[in-house]
Amino acid sequence: MTTQAAVPTVPFWVNGRRVAAAGKREGVVTDSATGRTVRTVPFATAGDVDAAVRDARAAFPAWRDTTPLRRARILMRFRDLLEQRKGDIARVVTEEHGKTLADAAGSVQRGLEVVEFATGIPHLLKGEHAEDVGAGVDSHSTRQPLGVCAGITPFNFPIMCPMWMAPVALACGNTFVLKPSEKDPSASMMAAELLDEAGLPAGVFNVVHGDRETVDALLTHPDVAAVSFVGSTPVARHVYETATAHGKRVQALGGAKNHAVVLPDADLDAAADALIGAAYGSAGERCMAISAVVAVGEAGDAIVSRIRDRAAAVRVGPGRREGVEMGPLITREHLDRVAGYVDLGEQAGADLVVDGRGVRVEGHEDGYFLGPTLFDRVTVDMPIYRDEIFGPVLVVLRADTYDEAIDIVNRNPYGNGTAVFTRSGDAARRFTRDIQVGMVGVNVPIPVPMAFFSFGGWKGSLFGDLHVHGEDGVRFYTRTKVVTTRWPDRPEAVSLSMPTLK
Ligand code: NAD
Repeated sequence: MTTQAAVPTVPFWVNGRRVAAAGKREGVVTDSATGRTVRTVPFATAGDVDAAVRDARAAFPAWRDTTPLRRARILMRFRDLLEQRKGDIARVVTEEHGKTLADAAGSVQRGLEVVEFATGIPHLLKGEHAEDVGAGVDSHSTRQPLGVCAGITPFNFPIMCPMWMAPVALACGNTFVLKPSEKDPSASMMAAELLDEAGLPAGVFNVVHGDRETVDALLTHPDVAAVSFVGSTPVARHVYETATAHGKRVQALGGAKNHAVVLPDADLDAAADALIGAAYGSAGERCMAISAVVAVGEAGDAIVSRIRDRAAAVRVGPGRREGVEMGPLITREHLDRVAGYVDLGEQAGADLVVDGRGVRVEGHEDGYFLGPTLFDRVTVDMPIYRDEIFGPVLVVLRADTYDEAIDIVNRNPYGNGTAVFTRSGDAARRFTRDIQVGMVGVNVPIPVPMAFFSFGGWKGSLFGDLHVHGEDGVRFYTRTKVVTTRWPDRPEAVSLSMPTLK
């Protein structure tokens, strides 16, 4: 093993400036394509978290009193800066995460679109008004911010997931403390600096880094009003249970096992093309990746042979290299875990149609590469079906009938995304009605809703009631107040009865 030169440390961003950490615990950030350590990242102690939350609380009154229009204008400038710096952000995402540059740029774009949505906040915060709810009495409702909100995000979308939360929270008048993934924290720091450049007042948006200890300090801090989380299901459950027990509003988006149901009448070439992108794009490290195909009847052999040919042709390499379609996994541990599932699939008796374990990328022997992997004739009891693998491993299950396929999807404990491939409007309509999943695609493999809709799953893929961005996002980051008003011009008789506003 070669010795590496000292690498930079990623600071925190607190109260409008970079802050060095006092604590001793830290993690390493690697370039996933080479395995080299490129940065270290300090883990915030409860004291660091408290300092960030205190600054965010101090910044809240003035930010709440900044008019929605002025808040929106800062976000408009932030949006333009994101656009200008999209390439720089994408390069950092590719370096730390591994996904291709085009894919990373796409994720910046999807985050930017939430900022665009949030710039409409003066309209979105409008309440309702009713005249004459009683004689001479009117009522109106307003939406008011909560205070300090916390965001905790996963490694697989280091810029997009923070953007699902922070722009909406800030536009609504909240201040924010973000704890991004410690595996790829740099994109969040770039966002903090761009918000600062856009004119966001100090203390309104803050970033601390860390692991469970840092997260738990946020979940239990008395001055944190709400927590948005995106990550795996066990941690989402922990976040939901801990933060709600501490009186906070919580939306915790969890893991997934997303199924595509392929019916015999589908355009099978188009379906195979779509499934290759959905299963192996970003090395399968997408919460909306298709990781299970349920092939109905005679679609089975036909779709497996088409996916096999295409999977074997996917170009694997460093994400920054021109022409590469699939990059490495996030860490050595994750690579070993995913490769371990391929072993488990073989042991369970599934047909290993394409094996990605042998992939070598010349000049990148220490990178975390695994090639596209395809299993056929997988059954619901096998670990490769039951568990979220979060890598480039696609499993195919066979179903005799459409009803059986729907039943398989609905019995799965996750419910994030799903898709049906068919030419039948009737079959598609039934699917969209009956399927127990939050986001559904019809001949669309990764049905990620646009920023003006809300994003979120059902069942084990979501703890809490509201999804992120769209109208749910505005609801999550505000409290409703209803005001009842009258202006009597003469004294009225005292009454101790329940007022009925006639
Ligand atoms: P993760 O759950 O390991 O980590 C998510 C965040 O929680 C990170 O910031 C991490 O530091 C923190 N964390 C980790 N362990 C913790 C613990 N024990 N206690 C408190 N905090 C902890 O997830 P990940 O590996 O970073 O991301 C991949 C997972 O995220 C997958 O399961 C994927 O499906 C899911 N994901 C879901 C969505 C969605 O919209 N539902 C979107 C993206 C990713």
